[in-house]
Amino acid sequence: MATSGAPFLASPRRWSRRWVLWGLLVALLLGILSTLVWLAGRYEAGLVQSLLEEDATQMATDIRTGLTRNVQSLQALQAGSPSPEGWRFPAAELLRENREIARVEWRDAALAIVSLAETPYRSSVFERLGRDSAQTDISFACATARRFSGPAYSISYFLPQSDGLGLEVMDMCLPVQVGGRLAGYLVATYSLPDVLSEMVGKQLAGGRGLALTEADGTRLAMFGNPARGSRTYIAQQLLDLPGNTMVLRLESRLGTPALFPNLLTALVTAMTVALAAVLALLGRDMRRRLKVEHDLADALAFRKAMEDSLVTGMRARDLQGRVTYVNPAFCQMVGLDASELLKPAALPPYWPPEQATEYQQRQSRRLEIGANLPREGFESVFMRRDGSRFPVLIIEAPLINAVGKQTGWMSAILDVSEQRRIEELSRASQDRLQATARLATVGEMASLLSHELNQPLAAISSYATGSLNLLQSADAIAQPPGHSADLQLAMRRIAEQAERAGKVIKSVHDFVRRRDQVREPIAPRALLDAVMPLVSLQARKLAVRVQMEIDDNCEPVLCDRTMVEQVLLNLARNGMQAMQLMDKARRGEKLLVLRVRPAASNAVSRWVEFAVIDHGDGIPEEVARQLFTPFFTTKAEGMGLGLSLCRTVIEQHGGFLGFEAVQPHGTIFTFTLPVSVRSTDQPPAAQEI
Ligand code: ADP
Repeated sequence: MATSGAPFLASPRRWSRRWVLWGLLVALLLGILSTLVWLAGRYEAGLVQSLLEEDATQMATDIRTGLTRNVQSLQALQAGSPSPEGWRFPAAELLRENREIARVEWRDAALAIVSLAETPYRSSVFERLGRDSAQTDISFACATARRFSGPAYSISYFLPQSDGLGLEVMDMCLPVQVGGRLAGYLVATYSLPDVLSEMVGKQLAGGRGLALTEADGTRLAMFGNPARGSRTYIAQQLLDLPGNTMVLRLESRLGTPALFPNLLTALVTAMTVALAAVLALLGRDMRRRLKVEHDLADALAFRKAMEDSLVTGMRARDLQGRVTYVNPAFCQMVGLDASELLKPAALPPYWPPEQATEYQQRQSRRLEIGANLPREGFESVFMRRDGSRFPVLIIEAPLINAVGKQTGWMSAILDVSEQRRIEELSRASQDRLQATARLATVGEMASLLSHELNQPLAAISSYATGSLNLLQSADAIAQPPGHSADLQLAMRRIAEQAERAGKVIKSVHDFVRRRDQVREPIAPRALLDAVMPLVSLQARKLAVRVQMEIDDNCEPVLCDRTMVEQVLLNLARNGMQAMQLMDKARRGEKLLVLRVRPAASNAVSRWVEFAVIDHGDGIPEEVARQLFTPFFTTKAEGMGLGLSLCRTVIEQHGGFLGFEAVQPHGTIFTFTLPVSVRSTDQPPAAQEI
């Protein structure tokens, strides 16, 4: 943890990178899925193709078998050396059964026709062109047959028909042996379209086409629905007959791919859809996460701003006492950077070296106490970077993590140097006030002394003067001159000393009276404000509530500020002490009121009345009688000078100090002070007392 760093917020760059990554992921998935669909399609096409190949092979085999069977049937025609006429009947029968054979000829060894039979299913195929046109092909095939001693096929050829169409035919020549000697040939003319329809046509499923082509692809005959267009499946099978080779071509439109040709593709597509759905869900989840992340970043930024703006120093330490976190206020307090404070060191840099041992002991004691550490703060002294020391108030609490385990300590640290300075100031001012009070008491005593002693001294002086006169007149009559002179001297001395004493006393009296010169106009509120800190201090100690009631119409009063403050303090202290002793049942009413309001005035002078009201037990009759008598007190530690001094001070200002009981209980002390008259700025005549 550190106190510096950029705010934890997603930057636009990070956003765009995230979108690019998402785009890539989607593109990649689309690519993979379309490849899967394509591969599934290819697999299906492969299946269709191999099925077609199998069928084509089967068909070629069937044609070959059919042709062989026909050869055997033809050979059967020659059994029993039939006559040409007798041959014709079974030949016609054979043609009826085998529609693919258009005509059968019995030829002699020189290839001249001995007998022939034509298919009953169509008119003669040679009707238009005549049989001779194919003579070359026949002789070529028969030559081959003779050489093989078996059936041989001629090249296929086209025969135009009388219906305007044409027919692709092929001759098969079969040598006839009689007694091991060539006796002639049987020539069967196959109609190629019928070969396809009769021999394999029944196996042909709908949507398929069958064709016989030459090796170069020239189409000779076809059956069924030949495929058109580019997306067809084709299987080719070589049909190699003795003397002729053709290609059997099976075409299918079955495989023309639909959108979902079969289950596999459908499955892949369904998976694609599911994947896309998962992706969408993931995206939604991601969006939610982003939002949470954003909220978290906001909360963090807020926490950081809060930490940064705190004036209280914050410090976290682990269980070993190492500093793990400091906030800016703490850094500022001790004048050190966060990095310096977090650096592992034997002693924290803000510990004054002379107190390090004590602090270490204190820390290990605290670590032993553990989580039961008392929550109230303790005072300590820290050191700034420049070496200056300052007092701090530390409040420590255990640092508990999310699972409720203590991981260290969190401390709040307050710099209390300013507070200490104010306390010092107020103590000094209290000392000053007390000194003033003592001085005033001395003045009071001196004043009393002068008052009491002046008259006797004056009497001594006059008696001394009288006796001197007496001695002077008696001396002239009877006494010896020497004795009389001594007496005179002694008496003169008495008179001198008495006069001197009178002078000393007068000078003390003058000294006391000289305080009149420091009077100044001052607002009543300022007087109360000045004593308030001290009154509050004592009120807190005695658990008393203090209330000020100041009438805004009050004008500034002319007074010796220090002395009047002393009076207010004395009265307030007496009031609070009186409440201290009262019944426990009435403790809740401990309220001291300081009230200021204009007093009754005449044309010559205006007055302000100050009152200090308490709710104590009141003043008993016998106490009331001696209240202003110097040295009268009911308190063990009291001097009994407070009230008499107060009255003297107030009377010196020309005012009046008195008291009354408050109903149902308590006492109100009131005194008056003259309003400062700006024009003359002179206090009323009474001040001269
Ligand atoms: P001390 O210093 O002993 O308080 P004071 O002259 O201030 O001397 O007061 C003399 C006595 O008057 C006190 O001891 C106390 O008994 C009584 N007294 C003064 N003020 C009050 C008051 N507000 N309520 C009750 N008694 C008071």
